[in-house]
Amino acid sequence: VERRRMLRQCAPSLPVPYIEGIRNFTLTNEAGPCAMAALQKEQVIVENIEAEQRWPAWCAIALKNELRSCWSTPIVAHDGTILGTFAIYSRTASAPSSRMTALIGQFTDLASIAIEQKRREDALRRSEVYLTEAQRLSLTGSFRWRIASGEITWSDETYRIYEIDPATTLTLDIVQERVHPEDRNMLELTRARAPHEAKDFAFEHRLLLPGDVIKYVQVLAHEMHSENGELEYVGAIRDVTDRKKSDDILHRLREELAHVARVATLGELTAAIAHEINQPLAGIMTNASTCLRLLATDDPNLEGARETARRMIRDATRAADVIARLRALFRKQSTTQEAVDLNEATREVLALMSTELTKARVVVHTELGHLPPVSGDRVQIQQVVMNLILNAVEAMSGVPERRRHLVVRSVGTEEEVRFEIEDGGVGLDPESQDQLFKAFYTSKSDGMGMGLSISRSIVERHGGRLWAVPNDRPGATFAFSLPLASMM
Ligand code: ADP
Repeated sequence: VERRRMLRQCAPSLPVPYIEGIRNFTLTNEAGPCAMAALQKEQVIVENIEAEQRWPAWCAIALKNELRSCWSTPIVAHDGTILGTFAIYSRTASAPSSRMTALIGQFTDLASIAIEQKRREDALRRSEVYLTEAQRLSLTGSFRWRIASGEITWSDETYRIYEIDPATTLTLDIVQERVHPEDRNMLELTRARAPHEAKDFAFEHRLLLPGDVIKYVQVLAHEMHSENGELEYVGAIRDVTDRKKSDDILHRLREELAHVARVATLGELTAAIAHEINQPLAGIMTNASTCLRLLATDDPNLEGARETARRMIRDATRAADVIARLRALFRKQSTTQEAVDLNEATREVLALMSTELTKARVVVHTELGHLPPVSGDRVQIQQVVMNLILNAVEAMSGVPERRRHLVVRSVGTEEEVRFEIEDGGVGLDPESQDQLFKAFYTSKSDGMGMGLSISRSIVERHGGRLWAVPNDRPGATFAFSLPLASMM
């Protein structure tokens, strides 16, 4: 049950013990005349409290404080809600005169207007506070630009974005100064067109702030007409610098990964080998036929045959050299050494793959522990992580959706960091478990069987291990460990 109370707003001459005495009264008809007036929205006149029967508790407190009469009038808002009551107490028993009744009526009308006004102002102030807070959180400021007078009004957040002192009187020139010189044309154009075209506009540009700080902002403006019909624009300015930066990082990362993937594809390797080896092979074939021809007569040309055989050896050596060189190339594969935060690297890969994961209806749980950095080639390690995630996604593509959970876990110990990918997919076939990491082993019709073998060689090159275990529940867990940077 709701227990509402009445609060005393203002009662300068009422005895304090009386106010204290009725403080805990709840808002019911039985509490007292004011409560009743508020609930019934009707004036309640108690001419003589001594003769009053209705509210014994209230009467006792009133009498103890020498109050003898009480006229309580509700203050009602224009929509009918009750705002309070206005009560006149007296030390003598009496009824209000008609003049008094009229005055009370005027007073409660005024009071209702004043209270409503105050509440509206409070509500407005509160919503302004919310708005300012929301602008700050979303890094979005607002502005208003009146074309005829050139008057510009900004919200606090817009001043913050442009790093201009809020006491400054704004002009387009001041705003222009903050715009990156290379992007000023755009603003000039808007400035020239806006007064004539009266169209909404939106553009993105850079700001060049003191200390050579560059910010990216998005501007969105809506054309409106003020009360007196003048053209004005009202809009929002959003600081998108962070998003821009992470877009750039993602873009760079995507390119790097794509590059590594390309270099590592079997197709490219095959093409390179074929190209380099074909020539010496063709030479060997030609020389072998010549050699046979030189020997196939009654008088074999032994010297010529010897010469062609020498050429065959030369070509075969060349082919062997090519293979040796290719091997060396792949072994080195320009590994860079840097301190890598595996969690951060993993988060980047997940961000990169988020569309793919959503499309495959895979739910990802990350349990990334506190990790010291490992030392190695960030992009190559990311390639391993990506390979394992891709395999897990593929292993889950045929299972019911409720099983498509991927747990990405990292654990740090004193000597190493461990990374685990747990899937709810088809799981491991005990027969072929030893084969998985061999080059060319695949169970997929369109698989190449290179992913795990390349991943294992990358991990081992970093001094770590890569392995797979079946889960207790359906699915498999692929894991690798890497030694800490400080242990290398
Ligand atoms: P590919 O993906 O091209 O087949 P990989 O070397 O990455 O090559 O994987 C080899 C094989 O290992 C796969 O064909 C699959 O049979 C098995 N495998 C890899 N990851 C998983 C996994 N998460 N669950 C079950 N089997 C897997």
